[in-house]
Amino acid sequence: MFYLKNLAIDGFRNYKQQKMQFHPCLNVLIGENAQGKTNLLESIFFLSVNRSFRTKNDYELANFNRSCFVLKGAFVKDNFNHTIQVNYQQNKRLKVIVNDNQVNRFDNIQNYPVVVFSPDDLQIVSEGPSVRRRFINLEASRLNSVYLKELRDYQRVLNHRNHVLKEKKSRFLINDQLAPWDQSLITLGVNLVRARVEIIKALEKEAQHFFNEITLAKEMLSLEYASTITYVTDKEEMKKLFYQDLLDRRNQELKRFSTLLGPHLDDIKIMINGYEARRFSSQGQKRTAALALKMGEISLFKQKNNISPIILLDDVFSELDHERKLKLLNFISENAGQCIITTAVDLSGLIQKINKEHKLLTISRGSIIDETTRNGY
Ligand code: ATP
Ligand code: MG
Repeated sequence: MFYLKNLAIDGFRNYKQQKMQFHPCLNVLIGENAQGKTNLLESIFFLSVNRSFRTKNDYELANFNRSCFVLKGAFVKDNFNHTIQVNYQQNKRLKVIVNDNQVNRFDNIQNYPVVVFSPDDLQIVSEGPSVRRRFINLEASRLNSVYLKELRDYQRVLNHRNHVLKEKKSRFLINDQLAPWDQSLITLGVNLVRARVEIIKALEKEAQHFFNEITLAKEMLSLEYASTITYVTDKEEMKKLFYQDLLDRRNQELKRFSTLLGPHLDDIKIMINGYEARRFSSQGQKRTAALALKMGEISLFKQKNNISPIILLDDVFSELDHERKLKLLNFISENAGQCIITTAVDLSGLIQKINKEHKLLTISRGSIIDETTRNGY
């Protein structure tokens, strides 16, 4: 059993000071637009993953009138309390304290799995490659402990290499200067691509399962890793091919002052019935594909950690037709440990259907009231 027991927020987004307790099973947060529903889920995600699902800039998360925020919460995992505190102060390194021990923010990324469903997930299917790279990087970092370190090293190497390409040295000097960066780029780049291919394969299998269920197997979802470097089974051969391709592109790279091959430029093709969903699918089909990807993600987390991740559902029900709402609810009752749902519309009919113990919270202008306690249940 894994769940978030309580949370205290100080100065995060539109929250000043807020404390709340959660039900281990289902929590429903009701509020009108712009009251702080998504902000609350973002704070929970930040506490567990130490990053936001909406922005990479931590400073955006501090209340407009402040330059710092604190989040503190207790997760229950395997019957033990894990207290996490996150202190953000502008221009300082983020401080993460787990059970009174300070840890590196990147060390914590796999330990408290939380998956968020939001209307913005549609962007994974409908937008350009950078959104999908961000998606796969986050998922891979949370599933594979080496991935995040290699990704950060790769980005550092890429910056150095691009810097060398920008310095207008003679051709002979540039080749010498590029050599060590080429080697690191190749080793790390090949590792990242191989890890991504593996995760995409596993994710495809899980996502297909849910996609079939939702579409009653009338449509087919497939994923394909589209790399700028050649993928072959043999790793050493793959490195050789990458090196050869880099040499072939050298003139172009010198003209463009940047690295033109590698995982930083790759994409994931999401296809429905063999056609790229981004270009050819309807809005509803794209939404279903995004939903299936997220469900697949939950299955992968479950397989890896042997616990159900906490599921955060941000106003997704209003976007789905009746049939899809029921499928999602069934999936949640079967797969979720704890679930925290936000909504701007009445969901009582739906919630009765899953017949789960739950807690109701209402939110207005960054202030949360526990309706269950208020009504004396
Ligand atoms: P909707 O139903 O429209 O999605 P919501 O309840 O999810 O609404 P949030 O996204 O949580 O709304 O935002 C609530 C309010 O918080 C918004 O008015 C937003 O402008 C405000 N807000 C966002 N960032 C900050 C910040 N750093 N400081 C203070 N307020 C902020
Ligand atoms: Mg919202």
